Amino acid sequence: MQFIDTHCHLHDPAFFKPEDAEIALKDSAKAGVTKLLLVATSLEDSKRAVAFANAHPEHCFASIGIHPHEAAKMTEPEITQALAELAALVKEPKVVAVGECGFDFFYNNKTECLAKQTQLLKGQLAIAQANNLPVSFHVREAFEEFWNVFEEYKSIRGVLHSFTDTEEHLKQALGHKLKIGINGIATFTTKKWQTDLFKSIGIHDFVLETDSPFLTPSPKRGTINTPENVIYITEYMAELRGETKELIAKATTANAVELFGLT
Ligand SMILES: [Zn+2]
Repeated sequence: MQFIDTHCHLHDPAFFKPEDAEIALKDSAKAGVTKLLLVATSLEDSKRAVAFANAHPEHCFASIGIHPHEAAKMTEPEITQALAELAALVKEPKVVAVGECGFDFFYNNKTECLAKQTQLLKGQLAIAQANNLPVSFHVREAFEEFWNVFEEYKSIRGVLHSFTDTEEHLKQALGHKLKIGINGIATFTTKKWQTDLFKSIGIHDFVLETDSPFLTPSPKRGTINTPENVIYITEYMAELRGETKELIAKATTANAVELFGLT
């Protein structure tokens, strides 16, 4: 079986020492997680994701972008400058996506951050559109604002990373042909409506992700999450949906290859 982790932060030295990242990468490949998408959260982190992918070209690809959390720390001219640098970095051959970008009003005060988060997101959608790249979206407690912006940009493809929102927003996402990123939350949520949602999603509509080092799936709770744990998410989804692990692995790998154009 082969798996793709479509969202991890293995390149980020805040979470992984270089030698630990090497070990995690080797263990993941051995376990069948042969392709990883390193998702960046800031301009500096984007440069690191590209460097890590360049150093591990066999297994790694980069998604470059600026997380909505960053908006609060940046001035408008700084955002403009960072977007210009992203627009240049996106030309690197290992870059297959833009993001993670979006809106987050769970950790950020909406009144204070809406304008700057909007500027950041719009800039990144323009870069994705100009380069015909898919987008890794982070949207938390902010779907109304998100759809307003998203709908201004035609033909944007992408994934709603770590989706845990309502069925209504799920339907809207699928209507826009977005994929749903499913991670460890599925394995440990106690909310039945969320479990029902993960059970109901069509097999062609989701991809797997770890969000490593965060969101460690059961039965590995309490340890640092690494990309190889995508296997536990696969096992859980197979059991929940009454499908084989092979089917989940094959379908989600194909979905990820198609979305991100991984070769
Ligand atoms: Zn992430």
